[in-house]
Amino acid sequence: MGSVIIAGCNTEKTTESNNEKVVVTTTISQIADAVENIGGEHVEVQSLMGPGIDPHLYKAKQSDIGKLQAADIIFYNGLHLEGKMLEIFEKMDAEKPTYAIADSIPKQQLRKDAADETAMDPHVWFDIDLWKTALVQVTEGLIEIDPNNKEAYEKNAEQYFTKLDELKEYAEAEMAKIPERQKVLVTAHDAFNYFGAKYHLEVMGLQGLSTDSEYGLRDVQNLVDTLVDRNIKAVFVESSISEKSINAVIEGAKDKNHQVEIGGELYSDAMGEEGTEEGTYIGMYKHNVDTIVEALK
Ligand SMILES: [Zn+2]
Repeated sequence: MGSVIIAGCNTEKTTESNNEKVVVTTTISQIADAVENIGGEHVEVQSLMGPGIDPHLYKAKQSDIGKLQAADIIFYNGLHLEGKMLEIFEKMDAEKPTYAIADSIPKQQLRKDAADETAMDPHVWFDIDLWKTALVQVTEGLIEIDPNNKEAYEKNAEQYFTKLDELKEYAEAEMAKIPERQKVLVTAHDAFNYFGAKYHLEVMGLQGLSTDSEYGLRDVQNLVDTLVDRNIKAVFVESSISEKSINAVIEGAKDKNHQVEIGGELYSDAMGEEGTEEGTYIGMYKHNVDTIVEALK
């Protein structure tokens, strides 16, 4: 478990063969990590987007097309997170099982994009319950393509979900340590609205939900005012976003004689390096919680 095999071998699978691994291609690493946990020894996972990659802007490379073509099954987030890859997914969907896993979450549980009422916020992995719903889709997809290992997938999913429940309890207990007035999370882009809703944290981002838009001076000024008014001590950078915008806020606050620090780096749309704790979903979630609590409490 945990190893990523680069470039799939496009061998044919027969239903009799139990040893043949299911080749799974995913977009963001959050999904790849879940598939590795649920699929275990029965899957080979190829993730297109590694550490520091911004899925909103990501365009498929030639090698990605190869990985998608080599896959038996494809899982991506959906809700326009991978906004530049929609055509490719459509094409793949005609050839093989291709799932937008966030689509399995009931619409009324999704959050609307604050800037665009017609769009949904795609950052569902920050709500652990919603993420579990999306991962039920992963489990069902694996069972559908590899019914011989149904029991293993179900058992692995159950074990992983138990760990996710523990993570949720940990996060709730930790986040409760932040004083009410200081419960403001300022980040570079609006990735944390599900997270904020879950832990009663007001979330302010510099950009819209997608990173595909330039932030305006007015947004900077609004944020600066809030920081000064509520005496917020820290703002956060994200591993997949440049620090330029957040630095503009820090400078703005300084002009008003209010000292703001960078509270640390949060993982939003990308996870940490493979092989590190932050390279797993649970590890990166914990890192975010610990970093936020440490800076704001
Ligand atoms: Zn995002």
